[in-house]
Amino acid sequence: MTLKTVHSVAELRAVVAGWRARGLRVALVPTMGALHAGHISLTDHVRNHADRVIVSIFVNPTQFGPNEDFGAYPRTLPDDQKMLDAAGVELCFAPSVEEMYPDGFATRVSVDGSFTNVLCGASRPGHFDGVAQIVTKLLLQALPDCAIFGQKDYQQLMVIRRFTTDLNIPVEIIGAPILREDDGLAMSSRNRYLTPEERAIAPTLDRVLGEITKAAARGAEIAPLLSKGREDILNAGFKSIDYLEIRDADTLERVEDRVRKRSRVFVAAHLGKARLIDNHAIDPINITG
Ligand code: AMP
Repeated sequence: MTLKTVHSVAELRAVVAGWRARGLRVALVPTMGALHAGHISLTDHVRNHADRVIVSIFVNPTQFGPNEDFGAYPRTLPDDQKMLDAAGVELCFAPSVEEMYPDGFATRVSVDGSFTNVLCGASRPGHFDGVAQIVTKLLLQALPDCAIFGQKDYQQLMVIRRFTTDLNIPVEIIGAPILREDDGLAMSSRNRYLTPEERAIAPTLDRVLGEITKAAARGAEIAPLLSKGREDILNAGFKSIDYLEIRDADTLERVEDRVRKRSRVFVAAHLGKARLIDNHAIDPINITG
């Protein structure tokens, strides 16, 4: 089967209705395009859960802040279509802004909670409301059996699990591991912003997170690890750090002192024109409680 691309909700629904009539299981992979192997790892992974895979490509204006990169965000639909076709994806849904937010649009989806206003919720005010709004729309438009999201955006995955549960949206949410370049840099559409010099610096994030993870899992005190990590990131050439924190993997509560439960170390930092994020799992070596 070769890739089909549709641009309207009506066409999307017609294709999905045809599949449903044949009893096929449908998966949705929401993306903003500028696809890379990390996105394709999601389509491969979700193939084990569904007969037909839809990839949506939409650069959603409501999840960008006024001084962020909405205008500059790479839009590469023809290349994206080639990648999806090669990956065996059946349907690409690429709506316009007018299709998603027609005149008179007035509805917001807002997710409260201690895990929403920390990390990217604190450094990108309104971001997760925009994500919740667009993902709610995409899920209701496609009505898939399952949808998959990367742990690269771990906090986003938690927010999506929360509102799909709260709003009784009948979809299974699947999380997928972070795909990295050979040198450890987490794949991201925003890596395209990096100059060759910056690209050489960028894997520092993965290296620093790896060092912190190793020491924290053995019970080392957190504060000195984080301050050394900050120093290493800035010394490598990053402009600034939005956060470098260790938080509980289930609640995103900040871990003080030492890691005793399943946690994650999260970073967001600016390098040239790019704001890069990454995170690593910390599984304490001797869990006592
Ligand atoms: P984006 O196009 O950046 O909005 O990402 C679309 C989906 O792909 C999200 O669920 C991301 O978490 C996921 N994703 C992005 N980069 C990676 C990666 N390197 N590994 C795994 N998933 C990723």
